[in-house]
Amino acid sequence: MQKPLPFTKKQLETIIKQHPTPFHIYDEAGIRKTARKLARAFSGFPFFRNYFAVKALPNPVIMKILVDEGMGMDASSYAELMLCERVGITGENIMFTSNDTPQEEYEKAFELGAMINLDDISHIDYLEKHVGIPKIICFRYNPGSLRKGGAHSHIIGKPEEAKFGATRKQLFEGYAIMKKKGVKRFGIHTMLASNELDYRYFVETARMLFELIKELSKRLDISFEFVNLGGGIGIPYRPQEEPFDLDRMAKDIGKLYKEIILGARLPPPKLFMENGRMVTGPHGYLVSKVLHLKKTYKNFIGLDACMANLMRPAMYGAYHHITVLGKEDKPTTTLYDVVGSLCENNDKFAIDRRLPKVKIHDIIVIHDTGGHGHAMGFNYNGKLRTSELLLKKNGEMKLIRRAETVEDYFATLNFFA
Ligand SMILES: *Cc1c(COP(=O)(O)O)cnc(C)c1O
Repeated sequence: MQKPLPFTKKQLETIIKQHPTPFHIYDEAGIRKTARKLARAFSGFPFFRNYFAVKALPNPVIMKILVDEGMGMDASSYAELMLCERVGITGENIMFTSNDTPQEEYEKAFELGAMINLDDISHIDYLEKHVGIPKIICFRYNPGSLRKGGAHSHIIGKPEEAKFGATRKQLFEGYAIMKKKGVKRFGIHTMLASNELDYRYFVETARMLFELIKELSKRLDISFEFVNLGGGIGIPYRPQEEPFDLDRMAKDIGKLYKEIILGARLPPPKLFMENGRMVTGPHGYLVSKVLHLKKTYKNFIGLDACMANLMRPAMYGAYHHITVLGKEDKPTTTLYDVVGSLCENNDKFAIDRRLPKVKIHDIIVIHDTGGHGHAMGFNYNGKLRTSELLLKKNGEMKLIRRAETVEDYFATLNFFA
């Protein structure tokens, strides 16, 4: 089975003449289309907004496109907050969801006026001591054994084993303390799933948070300005997988919103999500060339990219679809391991993958690298991060991050100590 590409073979060959492989390339038209689909699914709500998880694709040009589509940004570190600031995103356009948070990150979030999401009630004192009490406060809820992990709980952890969020009891305590300290604006957040393809998981998450809001509102006499269902909507990495049903999710969440929230005559909270992967993931491609073909006990395709450029297959055993450019219609006759040059045996983009017969210099496109792809890159073994290109909606090509050089890699070293 095939996955479509947003460019032709000829187009890509022209790009490669100017920008040597390997590189990640993103498709602006596709990103915008997906962003609109998400917004449209929730258009029946009083207010919906996705805060794009910056960590999925931390590039200013992409962030500007998403802001243009009406999104906010979900930042979780100092550098991500700085990146938002540099792009001109401040105030409540930022949701700051962190954990084990250093003081300077809270300072920066506070300075920018971001909505601060507390991962733990012990952070109340820490926050007050170092920066003060913000006008709006949110807690991250971890339901523990009340919820099962999603399909990919090996990535994010089962709730009761995950390091994130506060218990139910702690939430009641946390909001009560904040109310006493004079806070009047409240939000609630959870993030339980990762790459979840079953929309019903999010419907259950919404039910859980809506019920909780009802209880918290009544018991503590506070009201909620927003409810944030987190990110984690999955994408069909495998060509035979069904796409996530956004419309049914939104429709079913809408029913619960009416029934639980409006039914209890609570002031209607805004609905937030913070998806990263589903927005940009399907619209990124790692483009690489075949350097070597090796035949020992197995057939190996050696690429000019390695797991430092895309870690998911090696880290999670994740599937990424592979297209041999120009051979889409050829029969997949040969079983290959598709590997990089890192001195680690898990540096494999695919194991036992059936592909058409490959030649040296063939162009290999690895799909769905637009979320947690380039972003997870690293420098082990002196491997350098690739460039990032943007295929603009008018068909133009823009370099939106140059490739690292050896000088970049050496920049932090002191050769003369
Ligand atoms: C990673 C993360 C997200 C985004 O997850 P996706 O799988 O990219 O949607 C959202 N919120 C938090 C708190 C995260 O850590």
